Amino acid sequence: MGTTYQERTMKIPEIHPEHKEYWAAAADGKLLLKQCDSCGEYHYYPRVICPYCMTDKTSWVEAKGTGSVYTYSVMRRGVPYAIAFVELDEGPRMMTNIVDCDLDTVHINQRVKVVFKQSGDQGNPGPYIPCFTPVEG
Ligand SMILES: [Zn+2]
Repeated sequence: MGTTYQERTMKIPEIHPEHKEYWAAAADGKLLLKQCDSCGEYHYYPRVICPYCMTDKTSWVEAKGTGSVYTYSVMRRGVPYAIAFVELDEGPRMMTNIVDCDLDTVHINQRVKVVFKQSGDQGNPGPYIPCFTPVEG
């Protein structure tokens, strides 16, 4: 039994100019976060203004790409998929998909790591989107 993950077409995201570096890094398999130069907090999604102290002095940093499932939901209409909030080890929570596993085994506090899946389809490929998959052991 179980619910095997199947590849599905992910909608191509809207790309904002201030996120160009983020998507370029994603194509190289790197997850970027913003870190505030003033208060040191990490945030996601990436914003020009730090949401903690409102400075505009923020820098791109590469995330470790590991975290834990904070909450999740398995959608079972059509191709099943799991939507989750993953709490990154740096602190921010990001909405994402849990992929490449038995979706019935996804659970809260499960350790996961980032993997990238291309959005769009063969005729109209889009940027790579960060998804997460369970870490073995
Ligand atoms: Zn700040």
